[in-house]
Amino acid sequence: MPSPRAVILDLGNVLVFHDNALLFHRLGQRAGLPPQEVAQRLTGAGWTAANRGLLDAEGIRKDVCGALGLELPMEEFAPIWSSHFTVHEAVLPRVEGLVGRVKLVLLSNTNALHVAYVRPRLPLLQRFDAVLMSCEVGHVKPEPAFYQLALERAGCAPHEAAFFDDLPEFVEAANALGIRGHVFTDAPAFDAQLKALGL
Ligand SMILES: [Mg+2]
Repeated sequence: MPSPRAVILDLGNVLVFHDNALLFHRLGQRAGLPPQEVAQRLTGAGWTAANRGLLDAEGIRKDVCGALGLELPMEEFAPIWSSHFTVHEAVLPRVEGLVGRVKLVLLSNTNALHVAYVRPRLPLLQRFDAVLMSCEVGHVKPEPAFYQLALERAGCAPHEAAFFDDLPEFVEAANALGIRGHVFTDAPAFDAQLKALGL
């Protein structure tokens, strides 16, 4: 099988780590709630609406604070809401090495505030051929339309693209469309996966 013409990458827990447990813990401290209660209250309809781009920054603040019975102004809320990110430095050189050799596409389920936080901290994204944030295009994984948009932007057929995501559910959705999906685990495994693909 020829090496892929496009590599489509997830963002969270691939290019940046997002420690949701830490986020729920910090919000819980402010709200006086246990982290698992925070998780339960937040990972419902509002979370999906934010990922679909139906909530802007202020909409997210209101939705999260409302769900937790909190009142935090944006200047306090926004730093906590993005306090759980760490750039995955070990993987960046390998991704940078793909620039110009394949079409590089980012495919992320995320929200307006997290995009605003992560984008300036990940200048490598400027060298991608397309950066598709769910909240900016109105589609979310695992919907086929979101993957199809990535293929369209890469200008290739499904079998010509490799896709990496830490969530098996999203990898399976890619495979169902004929994309060569791989579960991302860590930088050394990613390196081996790319080598096996001839990259
Ligand atoms: Mg992820």
